[in-house]
Amino acid sequence: MAETYIFGHKNPDTDSITSSLVMANLEHELGNEDAVSCRLGNLNKETQYVLDYFNIDAPKLIDSIEDGSDVILVDHNSPSESVENLENLNILKVVDHHKISLETSYPLFYRAEPVGCSETILYKLYNENNVEISKEIASLMLSAIISDTLLLKSPTTTDDDIKAVEELAKIADVDYESYGLDMLKAGTDLSDFSIDEILSLDAKQVDLKNVKSIINQVNTASIPDVLEMKDELEAGINKIIEDENLDIFILLITDIINSNSQVIVLGKDADLVEKAYGVELKDNTALLKGVVSRKKQVIPILTENA
Ligand code: MN
Ligand code: MN
Repeated sequence: MAETYIFGHKNPDTDSITSSLVMANLEHELGNEDAVSCRLGNLNKETQYVLDYFNIDAPKLIDSIEDGSDVILVDHNSPSESVENLENLNILKVVDHHKISLETSYPLFYRAEPVGCSETILYKLYNENNVEISKEIASLMLSAIISDTLLLKSPTTTDDDIKAVEELAKIADVDYESYGLDMLKAGTDLSDFSIDEILSLDAKQVDLKNVKSIINQVNTASIPDVLEMKDELEAGINKIIEDENLDIFILLITDIINSNSQVIVLGKDADLVEKAYGVELKDNTALLKGVVSRKKQVIPILTENA
């Protein structure tokens, strides 16, 4: 039988990588032996830390899929974040926690919930299907929920995420708070990256009504450390704005310890950030207190004000 390719979004994060592994295992358990866990890009440092810590192999790296193939999407549904030829593929299932921007001409299994992480939904799917959650699967699920919710501190966190983390930490046999902090910190090490890489690590192209935008987020344990690179970052951002013909580029530098974000904003519509948050950009930057979630605290607020 033909393979079923399971993958998360481009620029994969810990949720996209682990969800493809966990979903593939669920498919195997439910009898789909042709399910293959895949990824659409390189592992970030946080995800590498997770896979090393638990000694788990990464999903298979793919960059294209033959037209007509069966696929399952996890942690995304937007065609712009997926494989190029998504419209020519046969989407069997989607498991996701983002707003729905997918349209198909055929029916499919679609499971979306407004929870903090795709793995929280997968945790429920395992339970609903009476599939045992092994220590390895629990470790993957737990890591992703900690990642997406910034250790349950992000406003995207729901009671379901908290309950899942508590249960999964028992199965995985880890102290989730100390493990989680080490994992998040591993993801903040930018030392090996060029400026261009930092600016594309977690960049999302978003259309805020008619404002063409890229919103990029980097996590850090120290905002001043990242701001040491401010001049180089701004030069890189200005180049991207020109190349991509953007109206605004927002770099969120998110302090995972204190739950704030410093933003660097450039582009002709930079004042959108001032208007939306009632702040003044000084030297193209401002502190957004309590803002950590791009999905919940940035994209909707900017869209409303665009
Ligand atoms: Mn994700
Ligand atoms: Mn996610």
